[in-house]
Amino acid sequence: MDKCKARVQSRNIWDDFHPRTCSRKAVKDGFCLIHHPEEETKREKLRGERYKASNPYYRAMDRIGELEREVEELKSKIISYEIRSC
Ligand SMILES: [Zn+2]
Repeated sequence: MDKCKARVQSRNIWDDFHPRTCSRKAVKDGFCLIHHPEEETKREKLRGERYKASNPYYRAMDRIGELEREVEELKSKIISYEIRSC
């Protein structure tokens, strides 16, 4: 059985100059399930979403986006009211 071809960083600082390859068995395209690019992308996305959800800056940006959409909606309503009252 082939081994996963991903390089892993050792947690041991003395091994920093000797990157190792993953010791798990390759199950898909030469990678283990942890290091398969598809899985990594999935995890990365999940991490990004979790980060955004917990980050006040992104929460504020999301809220601003929502409010801006609401403002646009209200503006378009007001315009239609103005037209009617003329
Ligand atoms: Zn691996």
